[in-house]
Amino acid sequence: MELDLKGKRALVTGGTRGIGRAVTLGLASAGATVVAVHREDTAAAESLRRELAELGGSVVRADVTVASEVARVAETCKAQLGGLDVLVNNAGVHGHAPLAELDPAGWTRLIDTDLTSMFLVTQACVPLLAEGASVVNVGASVAFRGMAGAAHYTAAKAGVIGLTRSLCKEFGGIRVNTIAPGVIDTGDELPPPVAERVKRMTALGRLGTPEEVAGAVLFLASDLSAYVTGALLAVDGGM
Ligand code: NDP
Repeated sequence: MELDLKGKRALVTGGTRGIGRAVTLGLASAGATVVAVHREDTAAAESLRRELAELGGSVVRADVTVASEVARVAETCKAQLGGLDVLVNNAGVHGHAPLAELDPAGWTRLIDTDLTSMFLVTQACVPLLAEGASVVNVGASVAFRGMAGAAHYTAAKAGVIGLTRSLCKEFGGIRVNTIAPGVIDTGDELPPPVAERVKRMTALGRLGTPEEVAGAVLFLASDLSAYVTGALLAVDGGM
């Protein structure tokens, strides 16, 4: 009974910052070979590229909302890894806008990034996913409760739960689960009154860390969770 990912081949979208970075480094340090996807050429992407190169992994620049770029990511995984045992659909953007101020383009951009990308990436990777592989989709626990000013975000994240539950039935031997983080401290400063309110709403009385989310993703990626599929695991400190 140990968390061992030696020999596993993994793809993490949005792997260069925040939760995705912690997941990428967590998978790699547990022995997996990881391809991490990002969209912008940033210092974070460059530093991860160097760290992963030492561990045998790599970083690919692609927009996961664009089918042709997603196809290129799948080709890279096939060429570099030969297949996939773990897929973590993590790339996403946060959005805040009251409905009255939300234009159709803003709605579509958020749904495309946080939900449609999971359809595109998962579909492109199906031929690569080995029997017994694990897909982890990153949702958000706010999707259970709703939040004023985040109808597009919570709609996308609620969609992730439906996508996960349907695909676990469609895929059979490939497990598919949702992880639902609460409010995680990824370095983006929350206004102090908002941070205080979040702490009051949370049983553990604090924000989570990217590593605490990564721990749950590693559990779902590993054989320790071999009988878990279609599940929804909140990592929100008891919000
Ligand atoms: P960050 O903003 O810190 O990082 C997002 C990552 O996704 C970056 O690597 C970014 O790449 C990548 N990304 C965004 N859009 C695209 C795209 N179109 N194509 C490719 N890559 C893209 O996010 P978090 O770590 O905060 O969040 C990660 C996931 O967790 C998201 O799905 C988010 O909704 C979810 N979540 C986060 C919570 C939190 O409190 N942080 C709470 C609940 C859920 P680049 O740097 O190149 O832009």
